[in-house]
Amino acid sequence: MLKLKHSLLCIALLLPTAHAETIIHAGKLFTAEDETLHEKMSIVLDGNTIVDIKKGFIDAGDDDTVIDLSEHTVLPGLMDMHVHLSFQHEGPATYIKRFTQSNADNALSAAYYARKTLKAGFTTVRNLGDSQNETIALRNAISAGIADGPRIYTTGKSIATTGGHADPTNGMRADLQGDPGPKEGVVDGVVEARKAVRQRYKDGADLIKITATGGVLSVAKSGQNPQFMTDELDAIVSTAKDYDMTVAVHAHGEEGMRRAILAGVDSIEHGTYMSASVMELMKERGTYYVPTILAGDFVAKKAEIQGFFPDIVRPKAAAIGPLIQDTFARAYAAGVRIAFGTDSGVSPHGENAQEFALMVEAGMPEAEALISATRTTAELLKISDTLGTISKGKLADIIAVEGDPLKDITVMESVAFVMKDGRVFHSPD
Ligand SMILES: [Zn+2]
Repeated sequence: MLKLKHSLLCIALLLPTAHAETIIHAGKLFTAEDETLHEKMSIVLDGNTIVDIKKGFIDAGDDDTVIDLSEHTVLPGLMDMHVHLSFQHEGPATYIKRFTQSNADNALSAAYYARKTLKAGFTTVRNLGDSQNETIALRNAISAGIADGPRIYTTGKSIATTGGHADPTNGMRADLQGDPGPKEGVVDGVVEARKAVRQRYKDGADLIKITATGGVLSVAKSGQNPQFMTDELDAIVSTAKDYDMTVAVHAHGEEGMRRAILAGVDSIEHGTYMSASVMELMKERGTYYVPTILAGDFVAKKAEIQGFFPDIVRPKAAAIGPLIQDTFARAYAAGVRIAFGTDSGVSPHGENAQEFALMVEAGMPEAEALISATRTTAELLKISDTLGTISKGKLADIIAVEGDPLKDITVMESVAFVMKDGRVFHSPD
């Protein structure tokens, strides 16, 4: 009898803790499954998983935790498909940093900017280019719980051709240039292109980034010339596929973009001189467009300041920067699949959500802009089964803002609550 009593007591003690849940009371809820706001909803979490979504503010059991967001709008964690966490442009000083900053310096900067990004509501990012794989180390540290930041999908160092946009020795005097090869992400020809992809697989990169055309900030003359041959692009895409890696492509000029899309890449970044026929090709091939309007806006403004950029960069920034928002407007109207991305690191980290207002200003409805940063980005990352919407069975990446983002999208620029993987990183004051 005594024994039975004892075991009953044990069960009584164990049961409630085993079923302790977290309940979020959401004043308004945007699930990203549809384009509407649902009033007064409860999200039930078991650990890091969303187990139920109910109408009304449901009562909590004694052992449950309630998170009161009844005065807020609750949304899925945001995702930015184009950031550079180990870098932030700070005017003329930026260009000297490659001679003064060690990779340890880069890694510590990346950890700092990662925390800022998470606090701004971005729970997942793609890091499209670093120096020496410091964002691979950061991704691992964040997954292991020893650093705070968004979930990172990183390319490691971008791949360019000699003198191309991501050749790290552009602009240096000859005796300092050395001969960067596939390991440093500089390739010429099919063999080196394959080797660079395989090296990134070996390094632990999640995906591949190439610079298919010139770019704005590199110390080089053209911001838009094609910089890879078709055979090199084919080699990169087919090798990446062997390792189940997607390929993200920096491109401003039309010819480089067209070649990359035909080779079967997954996303075009920036896309400045995208023509109507390239847009049709992207729709046909299912290629995503990651606009980075914010980066264009930032460099266009800074190009007006004498001395902010080197003389070779300034005309490119002034010409390309102001065009991206219009390209976005045309691509949206044409029905190209758009995944949210900012190129943060060009503009300051943590201000990623400023991209929303630029998207809305260019004609995209607020709800679609939010979906482009949640459901669509999850599709591009191939993680829709676990993230991208607030749905039963998905991971608890949940944020909240004050106000109604469907009426005023700029409320996304001050995020009051951030939960990633069921853990709260930022709460209302
Ligand atoms: Zn970039």
